Formats: sequence, C-alpha cells, structure tokens
Amino acid sequence: MNTVKMKKSLLKPLKKIALVAHDNKKNDLIEWARFNKDLLSQHHLYATGTTGKLIETELGIKIKKLESGPLGGDQQIGAKIVEGEIDFLIFFWDPLEPQSHDPDIKALLRLTVVWNIPVACNRATADFIISSPLMNSEYERLIPDYDSYRARL
Ligand code: PGA
Repeated sequence: MNTVKMKKSLLKPLKKIALVAHDNKKNDLIEWARFNKDLLSQHHLYATGTTGKLIETELGIKIKKLESGPLGGDQQIGAKIVEGEIDFLIFFWDPLEPQSHDPDIKALLRLTVVWNIPVACNRATADFIISSPLMNSEYERLIPDYDSYRARL
C-alpha cells in the first residue's frame, strides 16, 4: 500500500464559509443561520446567489454573493475551494428532487473531498461543525500532496 504524502494548510480562526441550499432546503438553512447568526457573522461568508440574498435579507448579515447555483454558482464555489479561498462548506442539497445542475453539484462535492474541506450536507452535521472548538482556533488541514499526480506524464 502506498503512503500518501500530505501537505498542510493553516486555517486561521477567522474562517471563510460557503453557504448553499437548494430551494426545498432554503428555509432549513435560513433557520440554522438565524440560530447561529452571532457566530457566523464573525467569519467571512460566501453563498450562491439566491441563498445569499435570502440570508442577507432575513438576517441582515453581509455575504459575498456569487452567481445563482444553476447559473454556475456551485462551480464558482468549487473554483474558490481549489484556490484555497473557502475553508468549509455548508451545502443543504435536496435528496428528493433532481436539479438542472446535478453535474455541478457532484463536481462541487467531489472537490471538497479532493481538497479535504469540511462539508455539512444536513443540519446535524452543520451543528457539529459549528460547535467545534476548531471554529475559533487555528487548524492544520492536511491536503494530499498531488505533486506526483501532476508530474505523472
Ligand atoms: P441558489 O443556488 O442559492 O442560487 O438557489 C443554490 C443551488 O441550487 O446550488
């Protein structure tokens, strides 16, 4: 079995958090965000367009809004993960409805695994993440060392 070499990325106490919810899950995310408003507002927040607009309106907190998910917002968040601009993702996706942008959703979730980004797809996981002592401290995130993959040809 090959040992995977790892690199480290230092997450600062101030986290960059991305929030995304499908239409049937938006109320869930808003309720969760309202409950955690004080804590969330201490961090940098990003969201897909409609999710971001709703949370800003309902909670009055500042969010960097990207494009709406079906118009490429999920891919923008994916690109930010690759560039190290997102530390974790809260993504309440709808398990009961197909989405027009299903391939983008799969791609986004895949990138969270590629780059070892914490991701919560339901409220229970989001509760565990947000109540972690690591939220307000530094954390050394391990990232697989992809140099040999890049040099494979
Ligand atoms: P929205 O996108 O916040 O613009 O609705 C969410 C999504 O479906 O990815």
